[in-house]
Amino acid sequence: MPASSSSPLSSSLPRIVILSTGGTIAGAADARSKGGYNAAAVSAQSLIAAVPGAEEIARIDFEQVAAIGSQDITDAVWLTLARRITELAARDDVDALLVTHGTDTMEETALFLHLTLATDKPVVMVGAMRPSTALSGDGPANLRAALMVATHPESRGRGVMVVLNDTIHGARDVTKTSTTQVETFQSPNLGPLGYVTPNGAVFLRPGTPRITLPLPESAPLPRVSIVHAYAGMDDLLIKAAIDAGARGLVLAGVGDGNAARTVIAALAEAAKAGVVGVRASRCPLGPVLRNIEVSDDALGLVAAGLHNPAKARVLLQVLLANGVTTPTTVQSAFDRTD
Ligand code: GLU
Repeated sequence: MPASSSSPLSSSLPRIVILSTGGTIAGAADARSKGGYNAAAVSAQSLIAAVPGAEEIARIDFEQVAAIGSQDITDAVWLTLARRITELAARDDVDALLVTHGTDTMEETALFLHLTLATDKPVVMVGAMRPSTALSGDGPANLRAALMVATHPESRGRGVMVVLNDTIHGARDVTKTSTTQVETFQSPNLGPLGYVTPNGAVFLRPGTPRITLPLPESAPLPRVSIVHAYAGMDDLLIKAAIDAGARGLVLAGVGDGNAARTVIAALAEAAKAGVVGVRASRCPLGPVLRNIEVSDDALGLVAAGLHNPAKARVLLQVLLANGVTTPTTVQSAFDRTD
């Protein structure tokens, strides 16, 4: 869909394109007190109309890429988004990109884009926990905060950021932690990149050099399955994933990315057959490091470092799509924190 200009404003303001995909931020209920709502009912134009002063921050254009709850996001949508952002970012008259998105899988889309977008222009993802018709809907404030971040000079070169609840998160670490609360997004290991204050965005640390991977050419991306570990687990789900054609397996392991002997043995067996096995953890905090409880060197496995299971899956998919398949080269990518 073509971009349409929102308002005739001073050409000295930065130009931002808002790409909308759906989610609660675009949600509407038929009563202000109602909990249930349709997740992609409101256009980005209407959302911005509810943000006082937006026209003083930027000239804003809009494009709708999808209108879905983010539980339905697919790698095909990721590729469409990434291609369109790449085209727009290459234009001299576009200064930054905003992506509106449901919160459920925002962290996965954020990491996919962070890994594959080579542009230095700011790309900010934003959503809301309350639909636009709710009492104290958080969408307008989050959109305003996202505009403040997208137009901040220190936002360049940081890859993809997620902005909700006046907090700026990096794509690698950010995760949704609460099913209901507006402070749901946290960066549990590395901490937030910064905050949005009444005076504007404030960054707590400088950006770090980023290495990107080539954008995969087509969907579907290689199948990578996540297997959640639990007490009394056996290898049934690992075997089922391999039978279904998985080229990678992510263990959402107990503790330090561990699991019952039979499960680790099944992962090692799969690794011998060329199915890349990554050990992540079901714990919300802390890295999974190599060769502590599990002998990764001997078994041909990869430790997820600071990537949670969902992030580990996205990273492994992008690596496999780029032909990165040996445990050593996959491990180097998992060791990165940029
Ligand atoms: N499940 C929907 C989604 O992720 C709504 C949740 C939200 O956006 O907060 O798009």
